[in-house]
Amino acid sequence: MSEAGLQIRTMAPVGRYALRVDWSDSHESIFALAGLRTRCDCRACESSGETKDAATEIDRAETLGDASLYLRWHDGHESFFLLPELRRLCRCAYCIGEPERPITG
Ligand SMILES: [Zn+2]
Ligand SMILES: [Zn+2]
Repeated sequence: MSEAGLQIRTMAPVGRYALRVDWSDSHESIFALAGLRTRCDCRACESSGETKDAATEIDRAETLGDASLYLRWHDGHESFFLLPELRRLCRCAYCIGEPERPITG
């Protein structure tokens, strides 16, 4: 499966602090929202490095086209993640269990 074809089939919140993503290749990821917030690399976050007081709950989560994920946080902040980038943040047993075989392969 090439990254270019990677898409999000469905996603749903898991409680208030995590987001479940079902990928087009049948993989399933659970992302801790706090973790995603710290990975936001928008200019505001990069320059301030200030995520300590950042909201870790989301008001909205939606895919933009078929290439990225948009998250709107409770404090009004917005984050965008390219899907291949997001997928690399997956820490499920399968993804961390095969470091020699990155999903990009
Ligand atoms: Zn940001
Ligand atoms: Zn995974």
